[in-house]
Amino acid sequence: MSSATPVNPVEIARIALKRLSERGLPPTPENYAQFYNAIVTIKAPESKTATEMQLAWQVLYKLDDAAHDMGEVTEGLLSNLSGSTAVMQDSLGSLQAVREAHASQSVPPEETHATLEDLLNVVISTTHNVHSTVTTSHSDLQTIRDSIRHIEEDLAFNRKVLEQDALTGALNRQGLDHLLMREVKRAQRNDARLTAVIIDLDEFKAINDRFTHLVGDQVLVHMANLTKAVLRESDILVRYGGEEFLILLVDTDSKGAAYVIDRLRLVTGRTPYMHHAQRIEVRFSAGIAQLRNDENGRAMVLRADEALYRAKNSGRGKTEMAD
Ligand code: GH3
Ligand code: MG
Ligand code: MG
Repeated sequence: MSSATPVNPVEIARIALKRLSERGLPPTPENYAQFYNAIVTIKAPESKTATEMQLAWQVLYKLDDAAHDMGEVTEGLLSNLSGSTAVMQDSLGSLQAVREAHASQSVPPEETHATLEDLLNVVISTTHNVHSTVTTSHSDLQTIRDSIRHIEEDLAFNRKVLEQDALTGALNRQGLDHLLMREVKRAQRNDARLTAVIIDLDEFKAINDRFTHLVGDQVLVHMANLTKAVLRESDILVRYGGEEFLILLVDTDSKGAAYVIDRLRLVTGRTPYMHHAQRIEVRFSAGIAQLRNDENGRAMVLRADEALYRAKNSGRGKTEMAD
């Protein structure tokens, strides 16, 4: 694996100050320290233990859900409050109608007229109060919604950073867990096809040994870029292991996946990585498994892995289908 990228304190300080001013918070040492630490944690996930990461992860998802729920609650409250305004406005209308009726029949004596007048004043002022309460609540809710949107944006950004492999820009395994579940659910709900492919670069150790680990890293980036170019926008590329990639092909059966992998093999064969004037040829083995009705995502990936194992054992540079 590549080593962790060093954290630049100046950049983090800059981001922390920006975040403070965006939220209109005074740059007190306490506020500053809190934001600084939060950003350091985001920027250097490698420095955390697996358990800490797991916890941070759970919090992120919970916050995300809570933000979503709050959004719905505020929406409901807002529509209730505007409903009350409408009701009050209706009552005002009826009272005015009563007054007009009385006036036209010239029935009410002076007192009735005065009472009605008083009542009308009360209704008018109540309506006015409700209206101003609604207006205030509306702007309060707007503020809450804005801050929730901020949190959601931050969460989306954090999740993206945490789920991405720093070297290749593909998803990492953490990202896979989240997406695999989502895609399997989606496929089952829509009765759609979903296929997993695991590819493992052949004799990759030899490339490292011959050209150094650093060049090996660049070959991995090259391979990820070629793969992204062959895939569709909706397909998902994951750095599954050191020199292993997992591809989730949505709305694709194993036959379609085999076609995609053939194309990748063709492109890879035609596009070696150039290190100075030297061509570095990359070959790979692949295992393909299409999601069955009776299995979960992990089982499908496991079957793709078994197929890959057979591809390796039958001479490498091949694609094998799971049973
Ligand atoms: P096989 O055809 O059986 O897959 O052979 P292989 O050499 O590719 O497989 P093996 O599992 O023996 O070795 C994997 C190699 O991948 C060894 C390891 O140094 C290299 N590797 C794993 N992760 C990275 C990485 O992040 N960067 C670099 N440059 N190399 C890596
Ligand atoms: Mg391997
Ligand atoms: Mg390998």
